[in-house]
Amino acid sequence: MSNTTQQFRPQIYVAGKWCNAQSDRRADIINPATEEPLGEVAMAGKADVHAAVSAAVAAKVAWAGSTGRVRAGYLRTIAQGVSAQRDQLAQLQTANNGKPLSEAMIDVEDVIATFNYYADLAAALDAEQDQQVDLPSADYHAVLRREPCGVVGLIVPWNFPMVTTAWKVAPALAAGCTVVLKPSEITPLPELALAAIIDQAQLPAGIFNLVTGSGAEVGAALVAHPGLSKVSFTGSTVIGSAVMKSAADDVKGVSLELGGKSAALVFADADIEQALDIVCGGIFFNCGQMCSATSRLLVDSGVAESFIARLKQRIETIVVGDPLAPATQMGPITSAQQYQRVQQYIQQGLASGARLLTGGGRPPGLEKGYFLTPTVFTDVPLDSAIWREEIFGPVLCINTFDSEDEAIRIANDSEFGLVATLLTADEQRAARVSAALQVGLVWVNSGQVIFPQASWGGMKKSSIGRELGPWGLHAFQEIKHVISAVRK
Ligand code: NDP
Repeated sequence: MSNTTQQFRPQIYVAGKWCNAQSDRRADIINPATEEPLGEVAMAGKADVHAAVSAAVAAKVAWAGSTGRVRAGYLRTIAQGVSAQRDQLAQLQTANNGKPLSEAMIDVEDVIATFNYYADLAAALDAEQDQQVDLPSADYHAVLRREPCGVVGLIVPWNFPMVTTAWKVAPALAAGCTVVLKPSEITPLPELALAAIIDQAQLPAGIFNLVTGSGAEVGAALVAHPGLSKVSFTGSTVIGSAVMKSAADDVKGVSLELGGKSAALVFADADIEQALDIVCGGIFFNCGQMCSATSRLLVDSGVAESFIARLKQRIETIVVGDPLAPATQMGPITSAQQYQRVQQYIQQGLASGARLLTGGGRPPGLEKGYFLTPTVFTDVPLDSAIWREEIFGPVLCINTFDSEDEAIRIANDSEFGLVATLLTADEQRAARVSAALQVGLVWVNSGQVIFPQASWGGMKKSSIGRELGPWGLHAFQEIKHVISAVRK
C-alpha cells in the first residue's frame, strides 16, 4: 500500500499539496464488517473549502486553455495509476464500504474504463472545436465552441465511492474544468487514494482538490461558494433539493443524481432461471445500496406463486459474511446509521400488513458488523412506506399484476424514475413496455450492466441531467457560438 499511504493521513489535498485542515478535528473511519476503525480523516471546515476553491480558481484559466490532447494524457496517466493499484484499491473499497471483493474489483475496472473513455473524448475535442454551423444566409459565418464551465464542486455518496467520483472527475477534467471534490464522510478512503494517484500523475496544482468533512459543513460551504460555476451532486433526493436551493442563490448550474425506487417486471414468458438471477442481482448486489436497486418486484400473477417460492429458496442460499472471503455474496451495510435506517423500514413493513417472506434479522454467527439477512416482503400495500420510499438496503418488496397495462401503471406510480428491468421473451412487449416506462434506463433480460458510453440518470425526482457518455462531458461544458458578418 506504499503508494496509497496518503489515504490514512488525516489531511486534505489543496493546490497540489497534502495539507492539514485549519482545525485539527478528525473522524474515525469504520470498517462496517468489523466495526473497527480503519484510520482517521480530517474534518475540514469552511476556511478549507475557501482555500480549495481559491486554488481551483487560480488554476482555471491555464487548464481551460490547455488542449484536449494534453488533458487526455493526464486522464490516461490516472487510469494507469488506478490500474497499477487495482488490487489494493479494491481491498480498500471493500474495507471502507463493506462490499464483497469481487464487486469492488468491478468498481475499480469501471473507474479505469471511465478515465480512459473520457481521455478519448478529451482527445477528440481539439478537432471538434470551432466547427462550422450551417446558416440559411451567405452573409454570415458561424462556428460552435464548447468551453469548460469553470470551477465545479463535486459531491458524492458512500455506496460506490471512487466510481461515482470517476463519473464526475473524469468528464470535468476532460472538459477543462477545475474541481473541488467532497467525498462522503463515511467512505472517504478510496477517494483519498484516488487523490494520491492524481497527485502522482503530476496534474498541475489546483486543478484537482479534495476536502474531507461533513456534508453539513464542507458540502454546504462548497455549494454556497461564489467561486463555483456549477455543482454536480450525487446523493439523496432531500439533500439534492437543498443543494439546488442553495445553488439558486447565485444561479449556479446543478446536475443531480438522486434516489430511486425502481421496478423489475417479470412476465409469464420470461426465462425463469435467468429472471431469478437478475432479480437477486438487482436488489442484493452492493447489499441493495444502489440508487438503481430494483427494489419493487412485479410478477405476472400467472407465474407468481411458483416464481416467488423459487426466489425464496434462491435468496436463502445467499452467503452473507466477511466481504474479503471469496465465497461471500453479500457483505454488511456500509454504516451504523444506514443499518438502523434499514431496520426501521423492516419494522414499518411489518406494521404495514406486508408479509415477511424471508430475512429481516441478523444472520446467525455474525455477532459484529452491520450484517442483515436478505429480506423480502410480499403483498406489500401500494401506499406503504416500504413500497414507495427508497430503503437503500437488501429489502425486496413484491406485488403481482394481471396485465401489461397494470404492470406499467404500478411501475410508473412512483416519485422516482431512475431505471427498470424487464424480463420477457416477447420482443414486441419489451419494446412497448420500455417505451412506456418513465425512467432513464431500461435493462431487458439483462443484469445491471453499465457502460461509460451509455447515459446514466433518470426522470422525475431521480435526476437533473445525465452522467456518462457524451452527456456526462457536456454537463461540464458551456456552448458558445461565434457569428461573423462576411466581408463583402
Ligand atoms: P446524502 O444525500 O446524505 O449525501 C450525499 C453527499 O452529500 C455526501 O457527500 C454528504 O456528505 C453530502 N451532503 C450532506 N448534506 C449536505 C449538504 N447540506 N450540502 C451539501 N452536501 C451535503 O446521501 P447518502 O450519502 O446517504 O447516499 C445515498 C443516496 O445517494 C441515496 O438516496 C441514493 O439513491 C443516492 N445515489 C444516487 C445515485 C444516482 O446515480 N442517481 C448513485 C448513488 C447514490 P456526508 O457524507 O458527509 O454527510
